[in-house]
Amino acid sequence: MSFSALGLDSKILQAVKEAGYTEPTPIQVAAIPPILAGHDLIGIAQTGTGKTAAFTLPMLTKLATVVGDGRQRGTLALVLAPTRELVFQIEENVKAYGKHLPLRVATVFGGVGEHPQINALRAGTHLIIACPGRLMDLMQRRYADFSHLQYLVLDEADRMLDMGFLPSIRQIVRSVPQKRQTLLFSATLSKEIETLTHEFQHQPKLVQIGRRSNPAETVTQLVYEVPKSLKTALLVHLLKEPAMDMVLVFTRMKHAADRLARQLEQNGVKTATLHSNRSQNQRLKALKDFKSGVVSVLVATDIAARGIDVDGISHVVNYDFPMHSEDYVHRIGRTGRAHAVGDAISFVTPEDHGELRALERFIGRGIVRKRAEGFNYAQVVPHVVEDRPRHQQQGRGQQSRPQRGQSGGQPRPQHSSSQSRSPQSRPPQGGRPQYGGSGGRPQPGGGRPQEPVSGNREGGNERHFPSARPQGHVRRFGPR
Ligand code: AMP
Repeated sequence: MSFSALGLDSKILQAVKEAGYTEPTPIQVAAIPPILAGHDLIGIAQTGTGKTAAFTLPMLTKLATVVGDGRQRGTLALVLAPTRELVFQIEENVKAYGKHLPLRVATVFGGVGEHPQINALRAGTHLIIACPGRLMDLMQRRYADFSHLQYLVLDEADRMLDMGFLPSIRQIVRSVPQKRQTLLFSATLSKEIETLTHEFQHQPKLVQIGRRSNPAETVTQLVYEVPKSLKTALLVHLLKEPAMDMVLVFTRMKHAADRLARQLEQNGVKTATLHSNRSQNQRLKALKDFKSGVVSVLVATDIAARGIDVDGISHVVNYDFPMHSEDYVHRIGRTGRAHAVGDAISFVTPEDHGELRALERFIGRGIVRKRAEGFNYAQVVPHVVEDRPRHQQQGRGQQSRPQRGQSGGQPRPQHSSSQSRSPQSRPPQGGRPQYGGSGGRPQPGGGRPQEPVSGNREGGNERHFPSARPQGHVRRFGPR
C-alpha cells in the first residue's frame, strides 16, 4: 500500500515524501480512510506505531481545502494531549506534514506565561494543540472560541484520564459544537476509555493495531534479576556494550533519576535527566543532547518521558521496574519505534517478582531471563555513596568508561540485537526550532494548577517551567 492510495491531499503527500516515509504504517493504513470519510474513530495503538501521522495527515487534508482561501473562520481543529512534550511533538508533526499549507497553529500548555497563548488564541488559529488544564483555564476566561470547531482529537486519552484531566476534558468538549468529527487515541482499550467514547463520539469506527496491551513487536525484551544494591553496578556494566549507544533509562522517582545520573557520570557515562522538577529549558536541552549524541544515556521518569519521540533509541532500561503494566508498554515503546529494532531491559529485584508476574500476564507472554556475562553478582556495594550530595562525591568511585569498541577488561554480555552505531551515525534530528524573545515566565506559586493536577506518580506536579521561549505563538507554515 502506498500513501498515494489513501486519498490524501497532494501537498500533504509531498510533505510525507519529504519526511522520507516510503509506505504507511498499519495504523495509518487502517485509520486514514475512515477519517477522510468523516467517521469518528477510536485508534488503539501503542506509541511508536505512527499514530500521530495517522490522525494528522487526514485532518490536514481536510483543512487544506479551507485554509487556503484566506477567509477567517476561527479555530477548526483542536488536539488535546496529556503533556507538553507530547504537545511539542504533535506540533512538530503538524509542522512537517503541513509545511506546504498556509496553516496557522498554536500550542497551549501550563507552567509558562499565558499572554503569548492568549494572543495566539485571539489571532484566529486554524489548529490548536493543547494540554487540557491550561486550555480550560483560558476558555473559562473566554479567550478561546471553538464555535467553528470541526475536528477534535484526544491523543493518549488513557494517560489523560490517569492524570486526572477528565473534568477539564468534559468541560472543553461541552464548549465545542456537537456536530464535529472526534478522534480518540489510546494505548489500551479500558472500560474507562470505552465510557469516554460513548460520551464523546458518534458511532465511532474502531481501529486496533496489534493485540491489546501488546508491546511493540520489534522490541526484544529481557529481564535481569539483580539485588537492589547492584542495580547501578549492573547498568554501568551493561553500558560497556558499544551497541548501547542511545539508552533511555527509567526510574520511578525523580530524586532516584538525579542520583542515578550522578552515579553514571561518576563512572564516566555522559548522562542527562528528564523529570518534572527540571525546567522547560533543562528538559529541552536534555532531549537535544540525547538526540545529538552529546550524552548517551537519558534517565527519565514515566510522566516526563511521556511523548518522547526520539529516533534511534538503541535500548530502554527499566532500572526501576514499572509499578503499572501499562507503564511498561509505554516505556518499551520508546525503542523499536516505527521500523527500527531495539532492546528493552528490565532489572528485577526480589521485591519486583509479583509485578513481573502481573506484567507477564498483562502482555500475555513470558520475558526471557538473562544473566550478565562477566558481571560480579557477589560484589558488595557500599551503601553510603548513594545519598551524598554531588560535591562530596567528587574524586570517589571514579572509573572511566571504556572507549567505544573496547571491552573494558570484562567480557561483554551478548544480549543485544541492535546494530552498533556511533553517535555520528544517529539519524539527523532537526531538534526543536529556536524561538527568539522571552515570552515565557515562571508561574507564581499561587493560582490554578495546570497540567497535570493529579495521579502523578513522580510525587509532584509539573508546573515549574520557566521558559525563555515564547509559548503558544501562532506560527505560519508554508506559503502565505
Ligand atoms: P508516533 O507513533 O506518532 O509517535 O510515531 C513514531 C515515529 O514514527 C515518529 O518518529 C514518526 O516520525 C515515524 N513515522 C510515522 N509514520 C511513519 C511512516 N509511515 N514511515 C516511517 N516512519 C514513520
